[in-house]
Amino acid sequence: MNGFTRNQLEIGSKQPVHKYKLCNKCEEMRPPEGGIELSPTRWSCSTCWANRVTVRNLLNAKTKAEGTLKKN
Ligand SMILES: [Zn+2]
Repeated sequence: MNGFTRNQLEIGSKQPVHKYKLCNKCEEMRPPEGGIELSPTRWSCSTCWANRVTVRNLLNAKTKAEGTLKKN
C-alpha cells in the first residue's frame, strides 16, 4: 500500500498547477510558453529572450551605423 500511496503522490505532484519556471535573467517565475532553455540549469522567459534579441539587433545596427560614418 505504501508504494501505491507514493505513486499517487508523485502523480499528484505532476499536475500542471505550478508549471512556472524560474527565469535566470529576471529571476522571476514565468510561464514556460515562449521561453528558451539555455542549458539544463538555465532558462530564459520569452520576455527576457525577446529583450536580449532586441538589444543585439540594436547593437548590430549601431555598429553598422558607426562603420558607415567612419567610411564616409
Ligand atoms: Zn525573464
